Amino acid sequence: EYTDANNKAAASKNRRAKLTVRERLQDLVLSTEQALEIKNKLNHEIERGLGKDTHATSSVKCFITYVQDLPNSKERGKFLALDLGGTNFRVLLITLAEGAHFHMDSKIYAVPKDIMTGPGTGLFDHIADCLADFMKEYDVYKEKLPLGFTFSFPCVQEGLTKARLSTWTKGFNCEGVENNDVVKLLKEAIARRGDIAITVCAVLNDTTGTLMSSAWVKQNCRVGLIVGTGSNACYVEKLENVQLWDGPTEGVPDQVIINTEWGAFGDNDVLENIRTEYDRTIDRESINPGKQLFEKMISGMYMGELVRLVLVKLIREGLIFGGKSSDMIQEKGRFYTKYVSEIESDKQGEYHSCLQVLEELGLGGVATETDMADVRTVCELVSRRAAHLTSAGVACLLDRMGEKDVTVAVDGSVYRFHPHFHHLMMDKISELIDPSIKFDLMLSEDGSGRGAALVAAVACRDR
Ligand code: BGC
Ligand code: MG
Repeated sequence: EYTDANNKAAASKNRRAKLTVRERLQDLVLSTEQALEIKNKLNHEIERGLGKDTHATSSVKCFITYVQDLPNSKERGKFLALDLGGTNFRVLLITLAEGAHFHMDSKIYAVPKDIMTGPGTGLFDHIADCLADFMKEYDVYKEKLPLGFTFSFPCVQEGLTKARLSTWTKGFNCEGVENNDVVKLLKEAIARRGDIAITVCAVLNDTTGTLMSSAWVKQNCRVGLIVGTGSNACYVEKLENVQLWDGPTEGVPDQVIINTEWGAFGDNDVLENIRTEYDRTIDRESINPGKQLFEKMISGMYMGELVRLVLVKLIREGLIFGGKSSDMIQEKGRFYTKYVSEIESDKQGEYHSCLQVLEELGLGGVATETDMADVRTVCELVSRRAAHLTSAGVACLLDRMGEKDVTVAVDGSVYRFHPHFHHLMMDKISELIDPSIKFDLMLSEDGSGRGAALVAAVACRDR
C-alpha cells in the first residue's frame, strides 16, 4: 500500500511512537490565538480593500454593492428573481404582500457541466431559456416584470444594475464574461430570444440577498453570511469608511452594504502559516489555483475532499484501516461533503452513518471501531476548523461595526446541514468578540431568491 519510502518511514515511526490520529493532525487545529490573529489580519485586509490606494493589492476586495436602503416590510408587488452561483440555478416569482407576507414560486434548473465551463454566451442563453420556460409555466410570459438577479461571484459594481465579473469562482469558468457587465450579457441573451421582456432592477450577491431577506423580518440584521458551495460575507459599513465610494454623499443613507468577498482572503500569502499540505493539494488540483484560499479551507465544495485527502494520508502512514486502501477512497471528489454531516450526526459512540459511508467507499470490511472513531475525528477536525475560520471572520465584522446588538443572517448548505456548525460558531464568535456585543446567527430562509426580489422591490419602491 505504501507508495514511497517516506510514507513507509513515517508509518513505522508513527507505530513506534503510538501516535494517535488526533495527535498526527494537530496542524488542522486552530488555536484561539491563531483565530484572533486571523480576525486581525482580515480586518487589516478589509481596511486595505476599502482604501483607494490599497484596494488593488488587498486580497479582500470589499466591493461596494450600491444597496443602501434596507427593506422596511412595506415593499409590495410581483417580482422575478434569478439565482445563479450555488449548487442550483433557480428562477423565482415572488409576491410581496402586507405585513411581511410573501408568496414564492420557484423552479430549479440544471446547469450542465459543459455550460459551466463553456462560452459565456452559452451560459446566458441557457439562463434566458430557463427564464422564458418559467414565465410560460407561471403565466407571466406576456408581462414585463421587475427582476432581481442574484449572481454569486465577485463583481465590481458601478451601480445597482451594473456588475462586472472580476473573476469566476467555485465550479464556473465561462469564457468572455470576466470584466464584462453580467446584466448586459443577460439582456443581450434575452434580446436574442426576442419573446420575453423584463426590467432588471438590481444585481446582487447571495450574501446581500441573505442580509436583505432577513432584514425584512429582523431590523437589527447587519451581516449576510454564506457557508455553502462557496463562502463569503457582506456587512453594513459607514459610508465615511469607504474611500472607494464614488456615488453621491448628500441626501443618501450614510451606510452601504459591502460585499467583502472574503473567500479570496489569503490569496496574497497572509494565511500561509495556517495552510496545511491538504489545503495546498486542494488548491493545486482546483480549476482556479492560487485563488479563493480562505474559501477552500471552509466551504462545501472542498470540505469532503479535504477529509478524503487526510484519510489517504493516514492510510499511507499506516495510521488507519491497518494501512489498507480502496480504489474509491483514492478517487478525487469521491468523499462527498454531505458525508461529513452524516458522519457527525451519528450519536457519540455509534457509527451507523459512518459505516454506511465506509461501505460506499469499499472500506466497510476493513474498518474497526477505532477506525470509525478516527474517521469521525477527521471529519470533526476539518469541519471545526471551517467553523472556527468562519467565526474569526464574523467576529471581525462584528467588532468593526461596533453595534451592540446584531443579527447575522446565514445561509448555505454547510451551515444548514452540518449538525454542529451553528453551535461551533456561536461558541467561537463569543470567544473572539468584544464581550459587550450581543449577537445572534439566524438561518435566512432562501436569501438568494427572496433577497433578490426585495432588493428589486426596494430599488423600485421610491420610483
Ligand atoms: C463567491 C461569492 C459568493 C460565495 C458564496 C464565492 O465563491 O466569490 O461571490 O458570495 O461564493 O456563494
Ligand atoms: Mg444560494
